[in-house]
Amino acid sequence: MKIGVLALQGAVSEHIDMLKRAGAEAFPVRKKEEIEKIDGLIVPGGESTTMGRLIKAFELEETIRKRFSEGMPIYGTCAGMILLSSEIEGFDQFKFGFIHLTIVRNAFGRQVDSKEIDLTVKGFDTPFHAIFIRAPVGKNPGANVKVLSEVPEGIVFARENNVLVSAFHPELGTDLRVHQYFLDMVRKFLTNKEVL
Ligand code: GLN
Repeated sequence: MKIGVLALQGAVSEHIDMLKRAGAEAFPVRKKEEIEKIDGLIVPGGESTTMGRLIKAFELEETIRKRFSEGMPIYGTCAGMILLSSEIEGFDQFKFGFIHLTIVRNAFGRQVDSKEIDLTVKGFDTPFHAIFIRAPVGKNPGANVKVLSEVPEGIVFARENNVLVSAFHPELGTDLRVHQYFLDMVRKFLTNKEVL
């Protein structure tokens, strides 16, 4: 499995380390040609307005949309979650609209820099220790959105078909389960492709 981590800005190397530990081949991607060749894409945390501008400037929108429509799994953390969503409350900024969620940016309060929560996650036997950094939450999930974890502020982990989003940063911890969940999606994508 070849996983690309979008390397325009943000927490790239941490994702690459986690993916390698989970048994995948992982590398940074910045060019259309690189995005054409991967089996899964991670859009990391950072600053969503800036990253959106860079996606436009590097002319990557069309290729990412094409790979999405082919069913390639895409996972967005934090700013990546914002960019993959369909609606961003109060901000007119670039977004892909791959997952039907309304995003509230900096949902834990602007003054709250970071927060750690032991999350109950659907399908995980034990809580996941999650690190949040100026994190968003989601609300108003579309009919096909599977909510995997929620806190009083809103949705923090969710999936719609081939798109996975988390408001927290599993790449900053040691628990591989979120990355493994994503790699399972990639494995299924590759298997179905072989059957076709
Ligand atoms: N607060 C940032 C934004 O709204 C996201 C922060 C992050 O990715 N850690 O874009």
